[in-house]
Amino acid sequence: MELIFLGTGTSQGVPMIAQPEDEVLDLSNPKNWRTRSSVHVVMDGLHVQVDAAQEFRLQCIREKIPAVDLFLLTHGHADHVLGMDDLRRYCDLKGGTALPVRATQEGLSRIRAIFPYACHEKPVSRGYAAFSLAEMPPLLELPQGRIEMTLLPHGPVQTMGLVFTEASTGRRLAYYTDCREVTPQAEALARGADVLVLDALRPRAHPTHMNTEAALAAAAWIAAKRTFFTHMTSDIDHDRDGKTLPEGVSYAWDGLRVTV
Ligand SMILES: [Zn+2]
Ligand SMILES: [Zn+2]
Repeated sequence: MELIFLGTGTSQGVPMIAQPEDEVLDLSNPKNWRTRSSVHVVMDGLHVQVDAAQEFRLQCIREKIPAVDLFLLTHGHADHVLGMDDLRRYCDLKGGTALPVRATQEGLSRIRAIFPYACHEKPVSRGYAAFSLAEMPPLLELPQGRIEMTLLPHGPVQTMGLVFTEASTGRRLAYYTDCREVTPQAEALARGADVLVLDALRPRAHPTHMNTEAALAAAAWIAAKRTFFTHMTSDIDHDRDGKTLPEGVSYAWDGLRVTV
């Protein structure tokens, strides 16, 4: 299984517009340039795209993503949903077939509101995305593996926490972005995973995201072989703050590829 970080930044990206110059962030380090968060997972050849940020097109060109077979929207916030229009290229590449899209009811209603022209089974003509929408079940069984979903608290909405298990290898990957905490159920689902990805916004507390301290506590409890933090603000400098993390835990960066 392969995990590709398309983006690792928070909702305003890093650096932000009019980034304060007094903040200690080394912008000569490309790992501190963060587009909005999403990942691409290749599970036994199946291309699963999780979220589509504002920079989705540029991220896909940069990482040479050849296909999207299944799209999962973790929740309907702008930094996760707004790139979905560019999925139409992947519909074209598959000969105009509709793309399966799975989300919560909150995510589906947001997709219908923003992209009404794409919410039908067949493209009107080439160049128009077509989303085959359905609610994400707790367990999605596929020939290439299984994807389990657990809901994570994220303020007024809930985020889909996703655990991938590849059929051929049994390897497990948990992706928990945008959450205030990892619930006991989500901890149990991810425990001992080969790779764990966690929301770790910034050192300071935040009402709807885990801060560094909360993410470290969740990482220790879940005890994955390797843990990566994502969705960071400009408060996090990759090299400076990465040194302070325990063994097996690191800050992800845009373009990082992990073989699970
Ligand atoms: Zn977000
Ligand atoms: Zn969010």
